[in-house]
Amino acid sequence: MTAQIISGTELAKEKRLQLAKEVEQLKKEGIEPGLTVILVGDNPASHSYVKGKQKACAEVGIRSTLLAFPETITESFLLEQIKQLNEDPSVHGILVQLPLPSHINELKVIETIAPEKDVDGFHPINIGRMMVGQKAFLPCTPYGILWMVQSLGVEIAGKHVVVVGRSNIVGKPVGQLFLREHATVTYCHSKTKNLADLTRQADILIVAVGKARLIGAEHVKKGAIVIDVGVNRLEDGKLCGDVNFEEVKEVASYLTPVPKGVGPMTITMLLHNTIEAAREYAHRQVQR
Ligand code: NDP
Repeated sequence: MTAQIISGTELAKEKRLQLAKEVEQLKKEGIEPGLTVILVGDNPASHSYVKGKQKACAEVGIRSTLLAFPETITESFLLEQIKQLNEDPSVHGILVQLPLPSHINELKVIETIAPEKDVDGFHPINIGRMMVGQKAFLPCTPYGILWMVQSLGVEIAGKHVVVVGRSNIVGKPVGQLFLREHATVTYCHSKTKNLADLTRQADILIVAVGKARLIGAEHVKKGAIVIDVGVNRLEDGKLCGDVNFEEVKEVASYLTPVPKGVGPMTITMLLHNTIEAAREYAHRQVQR
């Protein structure tokens, strides 16, 4: 059996066409969705991610503004910028590109973003709302993964989802989203013993670790759906995932590639959240 490759690029294209129509409609109603991205320092990967996000905004008609600051800015300066954006009615979404320089406390920065403008879905209020099943901005990568799996048309309820990785931005929330869909969820991490024994039980295996080709054929049950979140740069400059693609494609039923898998869906869900933030803002104005 050779796995069917899930094209994040194709799924993202489809979803973005629909989002562009939603933006067009909002503009007719006098609302132009606006996203402000804050970039601190010269990290080349961050620059490239921000560029991708701005390009995607332009594609669907969202106005995006970049505030780029040198590495040397103080934490209080950054917090002040965010507070000003919180008050700006033309800004519906605020995204601070992570990682930040080590002298700036990331959690403090995230907590300063108004939850109704937190389109990354990282604010503890949004995470808490997600956990208790309330309306919230869902973190973009986990949301994109759920979207991808749902697009396959497979039943999620009752499936065993094994998540490798427990970061606050990918591993933990993605497990919660699948739990909400009535999957049985197991989390694995660096202290997990006998990783393969657990991953081999997965009907849906989600890997978000950041270690090139950690997951081989021996970790995967025949016919499993495998979602590879990892992005690793090899010595030859090429990108590769956490899953050994060549091996696992012979065992899995569906597999995401790296690049062109989860990445494009992550950005698409950011667009989705920004449009939702603009819509919610307009709704609050009408209610006043
Ligand atoms: P983190 O470094 O924050 O978390 C990595 C997780 O992997 C930790 O929970 C860690 O466990 C676990 N881990 C480390 N080694 C092992 C191991 N040998 N076996 C099992 N678990 C292990 O990473 P992120 O969640 O931020 O990102 C993960 C990957 O996904 C990265 O490659 C990143 O670039 C990529 N990524 C891709 C995105 C996309 O849109 N495509 C978006 C976000 C991230 P412990 O908690 O015990 O330390």
